[in-house]
Order: sequence, then C-alpha cells, then structure tokens
Amino acid sequence: KANRRFHEDDSVIDIDGVKVGGSHFMVCAGPCSVENEDDTVELAKALKDAGANTLRGGAFKPRTSPYSFQGLGIEGLRILNTAKKETGLPIVSELMGTEHIDDFVEMVDVIQVGARNMSNFDLLKALGQTKKPVLLKRGMSATIQEWLMSAEYIMAGGNDNVIFCERGIRTFETATRNTLDLQAVPVIQKESHLPIVIDPSHAAGTRYVIPSMAKAATVSGANGLQIEVHQDPENAWSDGQQCLTPAEFKDLMQHINILAEME
Ligand code: PEP
Ligand code: MN
Repeated sequence: KANRRFHEDDSVIDIDGVKVGGSHFMVCAGPCSVENEDDTVELAKALKDAGANTLRGGAFKPRTSPYSFQGLGIEGLRILNTAKKETGLPIVSELMGTEHIDDFVEMVDVIQVGARNMSNFDLLKALGQTKKPVLLKRGMSATIQEWLMSAEYIMAGGNDNVIFCERGIRTFETATRNTLDLQAVPVIQKESHLPIVIDPSHAAGTRYVIPSMAKAATVSGANGLQIEVHQDPENAWSDGQQCLTPAEFKDLMQHINILAEME
C-alpha cells in the first residue's frame, strides 16, 4: 500500500487542517521533552511566529538510561494541548507502547513512532487500527526497505496516514551522533507516495550542524522538517546539546521559507 505503484500521485496527509505531502511542507518544531506549561506555551508562540506549522514535544521519552528523565507522561500531553489552544499548532508526540494509545488518539494530532520502535510490530499494528497520522521514524540501523515495510504494517490495518521521518543512521562516524541519510529522500519518493520529513536534530546531535542540514534537506525535496528547539538549551532536560534557541530557529526559518518556495 505504501508503494508508488498503487498510488501515482503524492499522498497529502491532513494533520488537523495542516497538510503535508506533495507541495505542502511540514515544519515541526519544539522541545525534546515537555517540561512545564509556561515555557511550552511561550515557546509554541515563538515557533509559530517563526513559521512552524506543527508543535513537537516528548511526554513519554525513550531514554538511553533508565535513570534519565523519562518524560511527564499524560501531564505532558495536557500541556501540549494548552499550547495548541493558545497557538492553533497541531501536536506531534511519541507513543512508546500500546498502553496509552487511546490517550494519544484523543490528545495528539500526529503519533510519533520513535527510531527505537520502528520494528515494534505490535505497536505498528495497533496504530493501523486508528486513523491518526503517524510520523514513522527510521530505525537507527534500518534499511529503507525495512522502513517501508514498517509503514506497510500500519497501512495494512487501514491507516493510510503515514509520514516517514529520517533521523540519521548509525555508521562508523563519531563526529556527529548519527549520519543523516539524505539519499533516503529521493529513494523513498521513488518507492512510495507517502511524505518524508527530515529530522536533522537527532542526526547531528550537535547544534551547529543543524542549519546547514535543514537547508540541504529542504533543497533535496523533502516534505518537511522536524527540529528541536528550547528556550534555554543549556538547561534542557533532554537533548539540550542539539536544541536550537528560538532566535536560531527564526533565523533558520527565513532561509527555509525561501528554499521551500524554490522547490
Ligand atoms: C525524539 O524525537 O525526541 C526522539 C527520541 O527521536 P528518535 O526516536 O529519532 O531518536
Ligand atoms: Mn530528542
């Protein structure tokens, strides 16, 4: 079902009124983790002013260490909803297991499947039983073919609203956290009618790399971006080293808007 053979035109996914796919460009920005209501609402307003059209924020976090901050849980989703009410920005948040799927269907606009869960087939099947848009991140060691098959798991259940997200893959290189595979853009777009967005933040793992990769992703023909932004990256509860400040994001968006137009 994800194959271009069965759907010649680009699919356009509707995220509570915001379209992504074809000529519609998604700009999803926000903190790695939701930390509190005031900061989230204030940041969401700044992101919207800068040109973001969706808000990301982790409430359930897949942390490498069990001793690291695990997210605010349902309270995080509630805070994101307050930010949505204030700004109108639809919400993207990661669901880690089937336990909270009903809460996510009710409280978020796009359910993110994290890199670590790309091959969690029970989760993918459960998402296939909903109609919610799913942002399907690429597993850190997954081939594009395996990634396509994960989308197939969701679509097989009857949910066609899948968006791919390339977030860097593991290679021998250690200068960056992961290696951004921009070649995934033309490959996915040849193989599939579904949109693909690029997350340069988790690929880079370090702030200074992000603007150039976000611009390159836009010119590559990707259907959007996901970028981590935090008011005070030095003190972020997760992924601070790769978060842009709101001012840096605003500056980047001025370039992205021009490049997205040219595409
Ligand atoms: C995230 O978006 O915060 C995240 C954990 O991403 P990934 O699954 O790509 O590592
Ligand atoms: Mn993160």
